[in-house]
Amino acid sequence: MNKTRLLIIAAPSGAGKNSLMRQAFQDFPVLKDVVTFTTRDRRPHEVHGVDYQFVRRAEFEEKIGQNFFAEWANVHDALYGTSRQSLEAIWAEMRVAIMDADVQGVEKLSSLYPDAVTIFILPPSIEELKRRILSRDDKAPENLELRLRNAEKEIQMAHKFDYQVINEDFEKSYERFKQILEELL
Ligand code: 5GP
Repeated sequence: MNKTRLLIIAAPSGAGKNSLMRQAFQDFPVLKDVVTFTTRDRRPHEVHGVDYQFVRRAEFEEKIGQNFFAEWANVHDALYGTSRQSLEAIWAEMRVAIMDADVQGVEKLSSLYPDAVTIFILPPSIEELKRRILSRDDKAPENLELRLRNAEKEIQMAHKFDYQVINEDFEKSYERFKQILEELL
């Protein structure tokens, strides 16, 4: 029996969350990714319906009015939200939902689903975070400064999470991440 049905991962953009999650999906087939919604532009390597459901702001706002989202938040000037339906579909399959959210989303989801477990992935330093964001998409995202400022704020909240993983070296941090998942699943 799994100890939780919802794992929420928070990490400043560029902390290396995606590579840890990719490996976790291979090792723990019970995990199922929650595809969340966003109004931000799709990055070149991203796939609609896989990385996010990319929607226009008007559509997102209409969904807010329909109480479609379990939670939604404004992050780096775009809207992001988790649909109730996507969580329920995963639970109907008796699987464990895993998703990422910013710290506002984590707070809302934890009060809505008190058995949720929260994990914060930390970059080794802000400098390293900047380097990773810059190397990710050839060109610097226009809102790099905003993302870095938000990262500093988010890192100060890391102690409030159930677990913290410092992502310096992939092998070592994945070992730690895997150990946490083994405890929970
Ligand atoms: P990015 O634009 O780099 O993909 O994500 C920016 C931030 O939005 C990240 O902190 C990510 O975890 C967060 N995020 C992604 N989906 C959701 C969501 O559904 N709700 C909330 N609150 N945050 C989200």
